[in-house]
Amino acid sequence: TGTTRPQRLLRAVQERATRGDSESVIAAIDHFCRHQEWAMNVGDEKGFILDSVVSEVSPQTALELGTYCGYSTVRIARLLPPGGHLITLEFNPNYAAVARQVIAWAGLEDMVQVVEGASGDWIPHLREHFGIESFDFVFLDHWKELYLPDIKLLEECGLLRKGTVLLADNVICPGTPDYLEYVRKSQSYESHYFGSHLEYTRAEDGLEKSVYLG
Ligand code: SAM
Ligand code: MG
Repeated sequence: TGTTRPQRLLRAVQERATRGDSESVIAAIDHFCRHQEWAMNVGDEKGFILDSVVSEVSPQTALELGTYCGYSTVRIARLLPPGGHLITLEFNPNYAAVARQVIAWAGLEDMVQVVEGASGDWIPHLREHFGIESFDFVFLDHWKELYLPDIKLLEECGLLRKGTVLLADNVICPGTPDYLEYVRKSQSYESHYFGSHLEYTRAEDGLEKSVYLG
């Protein structure tokens, strides 16, 4: 019987990574993607940039748009301070099911909530449903044409505060031109590009870090 790529990725984690050891989970996924099958995780090279931004912000409340198999979720969650919490949104139930198992294998299930559904539907309900005042950190990595409308929705819903840090993946490849223009030109953001490469390749890509100024 056929399996899906996320199922094979989960299998690689279960075979190669130590339960409760998030570093070994990250390494197992990177190994699978470099040597077996490419997958759309942020990857190790951009992952180091993600790590440094998360460490600098040390968020109590974090939001991720686009979970896929939970690779970046594990990277972010393992760096949260005590009491820190990450909500990650994924609209594909098969991906969400794999991600929950990857996150649990990494021993991080207590600080992560995998929420199934579309970002545009969920964002207006995050405050009432999860008791969130605002987010300290937001990682954007879902469909690229949704970065701009979803960040505007987060603004409208009052979920960004002065100093909230947004980090957007794939701003060059596949690219998010309307989002980049918005955060770079708006007086409400201070924005900075980190050049790198598309996950598990040498193609140019990068992350855009944008601080919301209110
Ligand atoms: N952040 C993950 C990582 O680095 O390990 C990779 C995420 S993958 C590039 C993008 C994911 O976003 C896909 O799993 C897709 O199903 C999901 N997605 C796309 N649009 C979405 C939306 N509007 N709401 C929720 N999930 C969405
Ligand atoms: Mg990405």
